[in-house]
Amino acid sequence: MRAAVCYGAGEPLRVEEITVAPPKQGEVRIAVGACAICQSDLHYMSGAWPGRPFPAVCGHEVAGTVADCGHGVAEHREGDRVLVSLIRACGQCRYCKAGASYLCEGSLPLDKEARFHNGKGEVVHQGLRTGGFAEQVVVHASQVVGLPDDLPLEQASLLACGVLTGVGAVINAAKLEAGRSAAVIGVGGVGVNCVQGAAIAGAEPIIAIDTEPAKFELARLCGATHALDARDENLVEAVMEITGGIGVDYVFVAAGNAQAMELGGELLAKLGCMVIASLPPAGVTPRIQPRFVVNKNQTIIGTKMGTASLARDVPRLIEMHREGRLKLAELIAARQPLDQINEAIAEAGKGAAARHVIVFD
Ligand SMILES: [Zn+2]
Ligand SMILES: [Zn+2]
Repeated sequence: MRAAVCYGAGEPLRVEEITVAPPKQGEVRIAVGACAICQSDLHYMSGAWPGRPFPAVCGHEVAGTVADCGHGVAEHREGDRVLVSLIRACGQCRYCKAGASYLCEGSLPLDKEARFHNGKGEVVHQGLRTGGFAEQVVVHASQVVGLPDDLPLEQASLLACGVLTGVGAVINAAKLEAGRSAAVIGVGGVGVNCVQGAAIAGAEPIIAIDTEPAKFELARLCGATHALDARDENLVEAVMEITGGIGVDYVFVAAGNAQAMELGGELLAKLGCMVIASLPPAGVTPRIQPRFVVNKNQTIIGTKMGTASLARDVPRLIEMHREGRLKLAELIAARQPLDQINEAIAEAGKGAAARHVIVFD
């Protein structure tokens, strides 16, 4: 099968024939229909996260159809339309038992034995536990969730990470209450879904903040009531004016830089909650003054993968989409075949809010 292999940090991908092993016990092989490009793939391939192995096939926002199942997989059948996420549950560790499988520490055969090999017989890693820039992936059954027949795979792929993380940050992590104010700093792939989540939860106002005003159109479409340029000298004053001088109740930081988190601290109201919703590159260290956090009785929390449970949250998101409350088609900037993946990655690297999706025949 064909896959886009990254042989080293910063190198362009090589689209080549590699082999994929059949699924073993508890595993599923998926014929990939669509794989969206996420900033995390770009961080992996650029070397921003040290220690990630190469060669690797990235891509972790996958939707496709089940090709075959390993022994012991009862919940999926050949031909089923499914979503594949990087969230993997061993079912045995303390985090899985606590319902927090996004933090699973269990070790699975997939973590030790490669399922991808290149033409020279070398191991090719499935980056971010998925490897979706390939015609097929082999993943653990816990990473796979069924999809309805009427949801296009390219839209469904977005649910695997960007939408799950952004909406989950609001609904699962912050448990935002209707009528509270929210600001989202960085309205890219995750941030625009924090905006959607805040709108779904009934936040008012919802302030989108970014250094790229080009992203504001999509943020407004997704429910932002205000959009402010992060480079504006009077940004803090503008937010205070919008919120009647008290600051915002919830700040969602979806930009991976220290300034975004420092700004979040400045905007936060008393009793406010700042949610760090996207994973910054290694070494990002914001300056937060604890005296303000204490004096204003604030909370700062992190959320990984939207604190999501795939089995609970994916059907819930699909229902929201059915009801017209969650936008998906609007989040797609372009569809491109695997052969154009380097161009798609270059475009995605410009940081627009909408996703580039690699589509397979
Ligand atoms: Zn992602
Ligand atoms: Zn586990």
